[in-house]
Amino acid sequence: MEEKDLEQRVQTVLTEIPPHVLLVAAAKTRTSAEVKTAITHGITAIGYNYVQEAETIHQALEEWGPNRVQWHCIGHLQRNKAKKAVELFDMIETIDSVRIAEAVDNRCAVIGKVMPVLIEINSGRESNKTGVSPDEVRSLVRYVAELPHIRIKGLMTMGPRFGDPEEARPYFRLTKKLFDELAAEKTSRTEMRYLSMGMSNSYVQAIDEGANIVRIGTKLFGDRCNT
Ligand SMILES: *Cc1c(COP(=O)(O)O)cnc(C)c1O
Repeated sequence: MEEKDLEQRVQTVLTEIPPHVLLVAAAKTRTSAEVKTAITHGITAIGYNYVQEAETIHQALEEWGPNRVQWHCIGHLQRNKAKKAVELFDMIETIDSVRIAEAVDNRCAVIGKVMPVLIEINSGRESNKTGVSPDEVRSLVRYVAELPHIRIKGLMTMGPRFGDPEEARPYFRLTKKLFDELAAEKTSRTEMRYLSMGMSNSYVQAIDEGANIVRIGTKLFGDRCNT
């Protein structure tokens, strides 16, 4: 995409989003030049689905100035990628099992880091493949809360990607309800501060339902050719 176009799109989305909401630019498939342009024009957080891709872009941006933006892991994380992931990311939004939580905790222990994480909820149950089921979220939160190198900071959900965004509301509402219930439980070392939901087609509805992180790709960078 032309730099001017991208600048315009970034500004449009940033002005539409209320100040309490963090915009995470979902940057999969985008070039480092595009990511750099987005950052120059106000993007403060970028999200990656794959550790390898995040690493490539991270390296490309490094000489330009590290720590200019927050790096969020927004894709399903594999255990064998946990080592690199904890080095690269400032937040992992997709913790959905004891196994992945333990892998992240172990790897953080090695490098002396405490990782802020969100618990990913499978709000669509059978229709979504990733995320913990709403019935199991409490026991997962209780377990993960005890891991010394992880701090739970909230919840994330995907919800449906396409179709009428109004139809995503029940998924967002369910996740917000869990968020409020967990906040009321006041589990130790656990904060319900961030609620990450909504993408290009649904962020307006998601914010309306209580999201304070939105993950937006297409609306910023244009259509992806290969996903
Ligand atoms: C790609 C992606 C997004 C952004 O999707 P768009 O429809 O391009 O805005 C958000 N969240 C996750 C987890 C993604 O993989």
